[in-house]
Amino acid sequence: MGGYRIPGPMCRVRNQAEIDEGTSALTCTPPPGVIGTRTLPYREATELHECIKILGEGNAAYCRREILGIRESLGSTRSSTSLRVGAVEVVFMPDNFRDDPDILGGKTRPSIDYISPGFHHVVNKVDRYTGPKEIRLIIQTTYKLGINPKDPSGYGRGTTSPDRSAGNTSLAFHEQCHGEDFVQYLKDHSFPKFEGRIGLTVSQFRQAIHDWSAALDMYLKDMNRFSEINTDCVGTTIDQYSRSKGINKTVCPVK
Ligand SMILES: [Zn+2]
Repeated sequence: MGGYRIPGPMCRVRNQAEIDEGTSALTCTPPPGVIGTRTLPYREATELHECIKILGEGNAAYCRREILGIRESLGSTRSSTSLRVGAVEVVFMPDNFRDDPDILGGKTRPSIDYISPGFHHVVNKVDRYTGPKEIRLIIQTTYKLGINPKDPSGYGRGTTSPDRSAGNTSLAFHEQCHGEDFVQYLKDHSFPKFEGRIGLTVSQFRQAIHDWSAALDMYLKDMNRFSEINTDCVGTTIDQYSRSKGINKTVCPVK
């Protein structure tokens, strides 16, 4: 008895997405092998149809990309730029503007997405597998609606004396510093390694997927912390700024 298993409801998993097999019949990841012939094999055609049916016509490009491996520029990433650090593609998304009470001026967030591992097993042993693929570190800046990114930053980078003498005082500059921090962190800290391998039992393999996903969460958390210290806790610190607004919150290490 064998079987091909793709954990998770969708092939592309975003950072801390819970990997819980069996929540959906939809699997967007094609089995290992070459695709891209002109006539779609029956299974791919069916999967594509299913994917579009479930996610909607607006996500047709996404489905084609996931199932057929066709790279199309998605509307939301039209002007994104990317670079590569080891196995990880870094994608800078175009800025977003949102009416979000949690955002004061701007916020720059890292997230990781990837195509989830899949495996084949005979009886209870994994005899072949695909590891996580197409790992991307996605960096997205979101400004509060109505904010002008050219406005001065209230704290952190943008308020240090070197920044001020160089004329780098805008919110946009501050958010850009966060993005650079994330890339720096990725360069300086080895990326979590997936420990799934042939010979593991099915539950051990699932555990390896779970552990890797947890390691990614930790990695992102540490990456964020590195950036807070580097970009929010210099010059006029975020804590000094908060206190000047009557908010007692401590983000920076107490000296
Ligand atoms: Zn900041």
